Amino acid sequence: MKILVPVKRVVDFNVRIRVNPDGSGVDLSNVKMSMNPFDEISMEEALKLKEAGKAAEVIAVSIGPAKAEETLRSALAMGADRAILVETDDSVEPLAVAKILKGVVDAEGPGLVIVGKQAIDDDSNQTGQMLAALMGRAQATFASKVELEGGKAAVTREVDGGLQTIEIELPAVVTVDLRLNEPRYASLPSIMKAKKKPLEKKTPADYGVSTAARLKVLRTEEPSTRKVGIKVKSVAELIDKLRAEPGVL
Ligand code: AMP
Repeated sequence: MKILVPVKRVVDFNVRIRVNPDGSGVDLSNVKMSMNPFDEISMEEALKLKEAGKAAEVIAVSIGPAKAEETLRSALAMGADRAILVETDDSVEPLAVAKILKGVVDAEGPGLVIVGKQAIDDDSNQTGQMLAALMGRAQATFASKVELEGGKAAVTREVDGGLQTIEIELPAVVTVDLRLNEPRYASLPSIMKAKKKPLEKKTPADYGVSTAARLKVLRTEEPSTRKVGIKVKSVAELIDKLRAEPGVL
């Protein structure tokens, strides 16, 4: 069985985001880019399943600019067997990503697609759900445990009341949550080896998908800065301030 793992190139989670002065979006010039953290978790899970003998091949796919090849090389260094880059300079919205992924699924026939629950740049949390709908297959979102047995997956999900375990038939889409696993670091030899692993290049047109924007970003703003706090000397002073100062409570 093949496992397909979509990996998105996003601004590194350690970078302090700067908004363009005209509010048109986020400043991406000279900013460190990395694999979306949830996609590292998906990749780790796929590799664990392969190591447990539940999958034969792990394929990483990224939709993005030529530089997304670096993200795919990181996935290959973690242990993916091969990679597909669907190259475009457009900023691709979740529906178009899901349609392209559907094209990759049709071509590759994976038994499982493991997707991040959200990309940390657009925070859409839409792609996995849309892909499952386009495939007409089951989905299990926000997985914190995945077990494969006999053409089915038992997926544990964190829900309000605790943990819910559901069973879905494969092929299916699973989206992963933070607590699923701890992604591995790629060793130097595997980084070197990854340079020679196969990486196929495609375009959205190869899958008959248009990347034209459906959404228009009206404005992007920095979060409001927190006001400086004050220190009080006693509990009495604290209570006094809470009672007296308008708007505190
Ligand atoms: P989103 O729906 O944008 O929050 O993204 C959810 C997940 O979809 C991500 O964690 C990735 O696994 C996948 N994804 C979204 N955009 C891309 C992309 N451009 N290339 C590869 N995977 C993507």
